[in-house]
Amino acid sequence: MELERYEPEAVEAKWQAIWDAERAFEVPNPDPSVAADGSSTYVLEMLPYPSGELHMGHVFNYTLGDVFTHVRRRQGFTVLRPMGYDAFGLNSENAAIKEGGHPRDITNRNIESIRRQMRRMGWAIDWSREVSTAEPDYYRWTQWLFLRFFERGLAYRHEAPVKWCPKDQTVLANEQVIDGRCERCGTEVESRNLTQWFFRITEYADQLLDEMATLESWPERVLTMQRNWIGRSEGARVTFRVDGTGDDLPVFTTRPDTLFGATFFALAPEHPLIGALTAGSARERDVADYVRRTAARSTVERETKEKDGVFTGRYAVNPVNGEAIPIWVADYVLMEYGTGAIMAVPAHDERDHQFAEKYGLEIRQVVAPAGGVSEQGGAYVAHTEDEILVNSGEFTGLSAPEGKRAITAWLEERGLGEATIGYRLRDWLLSRQRYWGCPIPIVHCDACGMVPVPDDELPVVLPEIDDYLPKGRSPLAAAEEWVATTCPSCGGPARRETDTMDTFVDSSWYFLRYADARNDEAAWDTGIVDYWLPVKQYIGGIEHAVLHLMYARFFTKVLNDLGLLGFREPFSRLFTQGMIYRNGAKMSKTKGNVVSPDEAIARYGADALRLYVLYMGPAEQDKEWSDAGIEGTARLIDRVWRLTLEVAARGAVDAPADGELVRATHRTIERVSDDILRRFQFHTPIAALFELVNEIYRVKDDEARAGEVRFATETVVSLVQPYAPHVAEELWERLGHARLREQPWPEADPALVATDVVEIAVQVNGKLRDRLQVPAGTAEDELVALALASERVRVHLGEGAPRRTIVVPDRLVNVVA
Ligand SMILES: [Zn+2]
Ligand SMILES: [Zn+2]
Repeated sequence: MELERYEPEAVEAKWQAIWDAERAFEVPNPDPSVAADGSSTYVLEMLPYPSGELHMGHVFNYTLGDVFTHVRRRQGFTVLRPMGYDAFGLNSENAAIKEGGHPRDITNRNIESIRRQMRRMGWAIDWSREVSTAEPDYYRWTQWLFLRFFERGLAYRHEAPVKWCPKDQTVLANEQVIDGRCERCGTEVESRNLTQWFFRITEYADQLLDEMATLESWPERVLTMQRNWIGRSEGARVTFRVDGTGDDLPVFTTRPDTLFGATFFALAPEHPLIGALTAGSARERDVADYVRRTAARSTVERETKEKDGVFTGRYAVNPVNGEAIPIWVADYVLMEYGTGAIMAVPAHDERDHQFAEKYGLEIRQVVAPAGGVSEQGGAYVAHTEDEILVNSGEFTGLSAPEGKRAITAWLEERGLGEATIGYRLRDWLLSRQRYWGCPIPIVHCDACGMVPVPDDELPVVLPEIDDYLPKGRSPLAAAEEWVATTCPSCGGPARRETDTMDTFVDSSWYFLRYADARNDEAAWDTGIVDYWLPVKQYIGGIEHAVLHLMYARFFTKVLNDLGLLGFREPFSRLFTQGMIYRNGAKMSKTKGNVVSPDEAIARYGADALRLYVLYMGPAEQDKEWSDAGIEGTARLIDRVWRLTLEVAARGAVDAPADGELVRATHRTIERVSDDILRRFQFHTPIAALFELVNEIYRVKDDEARAGEVRFATETVVSLVQPYAPHVAEELWERLGHARLREQPWPEADPALVATDVVEIAVQVNGKLRDRLQVPAGTAEDELVALALASERVRVHLGEGAPRRTIVVPDRLVNVVA
């Protein structure tokens, strides 16, 4: 029989047009008063930056979400699965600079091509909810939310040492500095003292930690990264006093039990007291020189290079023993951690130890392993679990934890310190000196100070300017007509804020906007957002662990406190996918190992690509692309195509209630469903489908089994639909049915999934030694392996290896020793 050839392009175009016409994946919003009843769910992948075209990583990520969406839909859930573009920010703006053009034009062009690619992949997206964060109808509400934070004191402006990317010519949030480098461009960052806008995320540090317990399923790795980033530690704030001037020098320490071991004191070069401490002294010039030199050093350099510093000539008085210890300036002390000053305990801190050795400062041991007190004579002593205090005055002999409590209490009684909790987390620096971002809706008035733009005047529209290139101050400052405005409060002349917002502000609430994307009256309706959210399954990259994933949690908590939504965590379940490599390296243009999605689609079709990206390996791991691999999934589709056309041509036949192939089919249903829904594994179901197709091919020409073959073939088409929705719909139609995407997801019959169990007699030299229960039809080599693994067989076999084995399938294994 001459079969019609499978033409992916035609099949895929046909079904994409049908889905569009039928608005197949749009889900209407409920009445805002309707409460969620468990029949709806929200599947979401992180939205893309439109800085170019889609790459294979996107294809993987969105296909994974798509398969999950289809299965949930067919299980009867109403699935919200929206899409949008994180369109503001450095990624888009840098793409525009590189290509030469206005960021808006380049961004919109990129959005168009991404949208085209997404539609070409056939993803089940509710396009009626599409948003772009750079459109005024979106950023109007970003500004509105900013003002709610501002009113509560959660957005504030402040001068502080901040991280500056010299290449991008803008400040960065601490979270955007990865190992001392700019998260976007990899340039080493510098430190600068600037007035900037911050979100008071530190106020939510404890809630961000404590409420992790309410998350349903997040990778432990992401939670650990967030915990470490927040860096909560219990300790004490201890006040040293400058000898002679009486100035207070507070420090935070997690080890107040080591106070007697403090032999010097160190200030960060940015510490505000340095000038006053050295003014007019002989050390003034040396210290100023050192401060100037270190200003050019990056944080990485400061933390990793050989420690150095300069003595101020001043001394600080240790509150526990009245000892005057020298005050140094050392750039391994960072202003942004703690108080910008440390009490140095060289015997018990590695960095302090290096510094003391270099400058010949005293090293005094004050904790020692319990029971084995030994003078370490200046060596660094690593902390152990059970330490006791030595050389510590009245506290000598106490265990370290007791000593910590006792010394803290002693300080508290005298007003010299207090127990306190320290955090590594700093407030989120949100302002940027770049053009392509959401304007901060604040007006500066000489008479009134900072005045919010009234809600009914939002959005503050980003002005059109010709020269948007970064220049170290916001390019918006050049838009004189836009900057000059009147004060909303007094009506006098005033100037607009010219910094724009970090793009991570835009993406901290987009998942809320999707729920009510076309609302012109408000950012969202609380009832509707509470109906859809929290997101039940969120999918994205681990690189956002302490960026987007923490910012979105922070926003959600604040918005819950403001009464704008009824939950405190945005994403119940999170899945972080691995990356795609080719020839051993991450796909990148510079390495020349990129396979573009468009090329792969043109050659094999979207369905083969969809199947292949998920077939490559476990979704959470990094995977290697292979051209042979995608040819394999293209062949699978071709085999299913030919099989189905053949089966369809024979006409309908009733499926028998039982049979070998019927059972194999039910086992496949069980495996596919279990792997996707319970284990969140997407590659093993494809392997199961490959196997079932092979089994069908083995018996397809046996006329006595036509009913079984038809049932198995229909099931293959049904199970492959989430992965390869176009060809599955086409084949389903050829089989005489309509709209597979709306058909219930197949359910395995437990009675047919269960395999018959047989008992195998295991003999050693002809004598019965054990009995094994195994599934009927277990292969001979597997039976031998099981027999040899038996404890009783091993006892009787002794040391010798078996000479040979005799197997009677489903009955007996005899091991001859
Ligand atoms: Zn940069
Ligand atoms: Zn005013």
